[in-house]
Amino acid sequence: MEKTINIIEKFKSIQGEGIHSGLPTFFIRLAGCNLRCSYCDTKYAYGKGESISISNLVEESKLQGVKFICITGGEPLSQVNTKILMEDLLKAGFKIDIETNGSMDITKFPNSNNVLYSLDIKCPSSLMHKSMHFDNLKALKPKDQVKFIMKSRLDYQFAKDVIAKYNIVGKTNIIFSPIGGVKADKLAKWVLEDDLQVRIGIQLHKIIWKSERKELILKSTKKK
Ligand code: SF4
Repeated sequence: MEKTINIIEKFKSIQGEGIHSGLPTFFIRLAGCNLRCSYCDTKYAYGKGESISISNLVEESKLQGVKFICITGGEPLSQVNTKILMEDLLKAGFKIDIETNGSMDITKFPNSNNVLYSLDIKCPSSLMHKSMHFDNLKALKPKDQVKFIMKSRLDYQFAKDVIAKYNIVGKTNIIFSPIGGVKADKLAKWVLEDDLQVRIGIQLHKIIWKSERKELILKSTKKK
């Protein structure tokens, strides 16, 4: 029987976050999320979405003219067939970014040098920090990244404590991203004062287009 997956949207754009920032990427936003972050800007992904064939999705991905596929959400690891989608995209030769909210066990999903796990660790201002599966931090490799989105000094301190507790400096990419109450310059000052070996992450798509990534849908695919 044909395998399907529930999606909210798919679009070609520029990766705006993390170590693949700036790279042309085909985004597949899967439906559903098990968390409810206070600052969520993708509430439209909470629903069931549209069920589509995984093989058709892989074929459509091949038409995009990109090497990178970003599987995002919602929470992409909350669907049982995400594993199959990942396996099929890897077989087709793609490099995959998985943007996961930190609550699901990433060790149950495919891993290789062609998969970048972009793991959120939710800070207290999200109100979801108690739902994190912290053991994921032990599975991250130098090719992966962990992102802390910060709205306050309390969030910054929380992230610092997590980094120290799990001893992850030098083991993976660590990204601090400011939103709302924390400005990038203030966050940079804190990082420099504390000599933290982390990267400040600014959302590139908001600088390029001054809008959310989801609005950057390119209708057409590869030129014939
Ligand atoms: S994990 Fe992402 S999609 Fe889910 S509630 Fe939080 S911000 Fe929204």
